[in-house]
Amino acid sequence: MFVFDPPRQSSLAVQGNSNRFPVRRVFCVGRNYEAHVREMGNDTREPPFFFTKPSDAVRDTPCTIPYPPLTEDLHFEVELVIAIGKGGANISDADVMGHIWGASVGIDLTRRDLQAEAKKMGRPWDWAKAFDQSAPIAPIVPIADVPSVEAGRIWLSVNGEQRQEADLSDMIWAVREHVAILSQAMVLAPGDIIMTGTPAGVGAVVPGDVLTGGVDGLASFEVIIGPRA
Ligand code: MN
Repeated sequence: MFVFDPPRQSSLAVQGNSNRFPVRRVFCVGRNYEAHVREMGNDTREPPFFFTKPSDAVRDTPCTIPYPPLTEDLHFEVELVIAIGKGGANISDADVMGHIWGASVGIDLTRRDLQAEAKKMGRPWDWAKAFDQSAPIAPIVPIADVPSVEAGRIWLSVNGEQRQEADLSDMIWAVREHVAILSQAMVLAPGDIIMTGTPAGVGAVVPGDVLTGGVDGLASFEVIIGPRA
């Protein structure tokens, strides 16, 4: 028994299935496409690093997300999403695919002004990255229906104008590599999801903007930026 009702299990829709994918943790890969690393003024040779969002930051799409508080510079980052179905530690590159339940695409919404301040002050990124509803994600596609997590066009448009476009093969650390590296730091568990980093072209949105994006042949989303919370 609990002293009050425990929080509802966070979850995401599954394509072609009325059952939902239960979300345990949300890991995000930093700086995983070379052109985006350069646009942010960083070196492309460093090993991958990770940050997290709370499990209840995820939202099904389509959705409307209120413009969050404390920022004047809300940015989109389109990202391939990996959904873990079988846990493990120290997973080898060759075994990673056997741990993946499915894949999709979503947005790592970022309060860029708070991130810039955190970087300058040497502080954590949580206030920039881990805010409420900061991870809208298209329905998870079961792995049997995923054409590839290593190649395919990934894109995002704002109000119909394309702003981000790359290929999954442009990742500095491929899925099999960064999931293996992540599993050296944490025991991965079913329900963990991984947002795998964004290509170049990130930018700001304002209330009323309509964001569409996807990975060709996999999934796509629509997200509307609502009024300020
Ligand atoms: Mn990101």
